[in-house]
Amino acid sequence: MCKVIAVANQKGGVGKTVTSVNLGIGLAREGKKVMIIDSDPQGSLTISLGCKEPDSLDYTLANALINIINDEPTDINKGLIHHVEGIDLMPGNIELSSLEITLTGVISRETILRQYVEKARNMYDYIILDCAPSLGMMTINALACADSVIIPCQAAYLPVKGLQQLIKTIGRVKRQLNPKLNIEGILITMVDNRTNYAKDISNQIYEVYSSSIKVFPIGIPLSVRAAEISATGNSIYVYDPKGKAAFAYKELIKEVMKNDEKSWSDSKAV
Ligand code: ADP
Ligand code: MG
Repeated sequence: MCKVIAVANQKGGVGKTVTSVNLGIGLAREGKKVMIIDSDPQGSLTISLGCKEPDSLDYTLANALINIINDEPTDINKGLIHHVEGIDLMPGNIELSSLEITLTGVISRETILRQYVEKARNMYDYIILDCAPSLGMMTINALACADSVIIPCQAAYLPVKGLQQLIKTIGRVKRQLNPKLNIEGILITMVDNRTNYAKDISNQIYEVYSSSIKVFPIGIPLSVRAAEISATGNSIYVYDPKGKAAFAYKELIKEVMKNDEKSWSDSKAV
């Protein structure tokens, strides 16, 4: 059974890409088959996983989606980059931004990515979708094909305000396009435990949301080593295995896998 997790927040710089990398690779380290999809035209995830010039790639997510729009056969393996840490990457690049414009005139424009992901489901245990910092058509496509969403949220005032709009959008996608969509949880990121401010923000998020949405009990600490990994092409588990960010990401993975074991046993019971 494959689970598709979108990592989304329309705010940039909140830790979506770093979370997608370390969530995906962390799950692979637990023996899971994992694909990570870069659905952001900036290609930051693709760069973080060691492909320094995503715009020069011959075949990326944009090409795969164009095939689907044109009703041409799609080879799921085409364009996949196998990363040494055991995950498959479907890269993304700037071509996704022109694709996003094309999508507006396309039949089933919200579910083009779903058609791609559905074909990949039987090859993987987890598919992680790193989203762009917008609520544009690619993010809607990601939400329309995901089973759940992880919302990274920086421990700061303004990003917290943007959460309402994102949660509303997730609700609309759930009602109109994807009834199985759930919020996996809010992940507080870049927590500077030395400051009271970060604690206040974290407490505020718990107070406002934890009655309706899971807030992961361990946030991702602010860590210079975590900030550096995108330049190394590796995960935090290789770059700083004993650091606090690696520990926090491992806790996130335990939580995600715990949720899945529970929902899989619930579904067997039905
Ligand atoms: P997004 O994908 O939401 O735009 P990124 O994952 O690219 O966010 O992170 C934004 C910036 O913050 C990047 O420069 C990244 O290296 C840095 N960063 C991410 N997580 C942490 C962390 N835990 N501690 C310090 N810096 C971080
Ligand atoms: Mg990003």
